[in-house]
Amino acid sequence: METGDIDRLRHPDEALAMILARARPLPIERIPLAEAAWQVLADDVVAEEDHPPFPAATMDGYAVVAGDGSPWREVIGEQTAGFVLDEEVTEGTAVRITTGSPVPPGANAVVPVEETETAEDHVIVHRLDVRPGENIRGVGADLRRGTRILPAGCILGPAELGIIAGLGAVPVPVRRRPRVSVVSTGNELVDPGERPAPGQIRDSNRFSLAAALGGAGADVVWTGKAPDERAALRSLLAERIAASDVVVTSGGVSMGELDLVKALLGELAEVHFRRVFMKPGKPLNFATTDRTLVFGLPGNPVSALVSLELFVKPALAVLSGGGAVARARVPVTLARETAASDRIEFQRATVRVTDDGRLRATTTGSQSSSRLASFVGANALVIIPPRPHPYAAGELVDAVLLGLPLPATG
Ligand code: AMP
Ligand code: MG
Repeated sequence: METGDIDRLRHPDEALAMILARARPLPIERIPLAEAAWQVLADDVVAEEDHPPFPAATMDGYAVVAGDGSPWREVIGEQTAGFVLDEEVTEGTAVRITTGSPVPPGANAVVPVEETETAEDHVIVHRLDVRPGENIRGVGADLRRGTRILPAGCILGPAELGIIAGLGAVPVPVRRRPRVSVVSTGNELVDPGERPAPGQIRDSNRFSLAAALGGAGADVVWTGKAPDERAALRSLLAERIAASDVVVTSGGVSMGELDLVKALLGELAEVHFRRVFMKPGKPLNFATTDRTLVFGLPGNPVSALVSLELFVKPALAVLSGGGAVARARVPVTLARETAASDRIEFQRATVRVTDDGRLRATTTGSQSSSRLASFVGANALVIIPPRPHPYAAGELVDAVLLGLPLPATG
């Protein structure tokens, strides 16, 4: 790479493409089903059995021979769930049966209990037009043996976990969760339980970034803070890079004397870019070693979180083996006049569904890059392209959804 190239301002899309080109899926491991929720499936799941494995009643009622013409049948047994009754149903007989139970041999229909009446050891069927197969779920009706039911790369939510459990496809192959270290840097930082001396502030990035990473499926193996002191910071960064799949730092990537992260990443890893044409989050350092991705996020709390959403999370998705790496952008109508800047701006906003089914975005007050409160109640980042004059209320822009749109308010 040419010298100077790493300082070139990158379009956010180009920066993301450079990151994704260097992210590799982590090794596959097999884990217990109970630990698999929200992980990414690493291998296709192919049904090795039919589901249901036996013809099952879909109603409580009586298993009968369809169309045997007689309303009056002798009840020869009771079939409940979990075993197979050793009775053959013939014309003129019936077996009482519960939902989900195997239909006994000989029977080919189930008459719902609502359409019958009992008389001692007999049942009277009120309908004579019972058809074969009525109220029976056939073998393989839900899932046929040999079908690829879950593709590799899918996220294991409730239905997927239930399908895996139902098929007994355990343990579950997933990609190892990315091991991530979070390092806050800055001489001014104290822990949240401490009282800051004059000129100090509490370290908030460590906690907000770790929470965002954990929510994105990362295994946050280490968090801590370090002062702007070259030797100590260098050895800490070297140690965390060696021990992690991803290292996320905050602070120390701007133009100041004590912005040491920028220089140290150049010594410890290969830096690919350092600046992105966006607001907030212009200083973003991305570097790699042969097995670790390093993100040097800016120190301002909002900048750090926005950069994490747009660049770190998609990289984590690739490491985890998920396919959906770039978030969908959706058109939203601006609820208010919105000032534009000279860079692509990602403003925090609350998106609601309007009564006529469109999405409407209300930005969350001051968009200063230090004002974390701009994330409170935000479920989207609206993308405000640079231009000399403001965007009017009602103009259409794109947004990256961070959560589900809210219902319209009254
Ligand atoms: P820097 O990127 O190091 O120049 O920091 C930019 C701004 O973010 C400064 O006002 C810092 O005090 C603030 N800042 C840096 N790190 C943190 C942190 N971990 N928590 C809260 N604020 C921070
Ligand atoms: Mg700093």
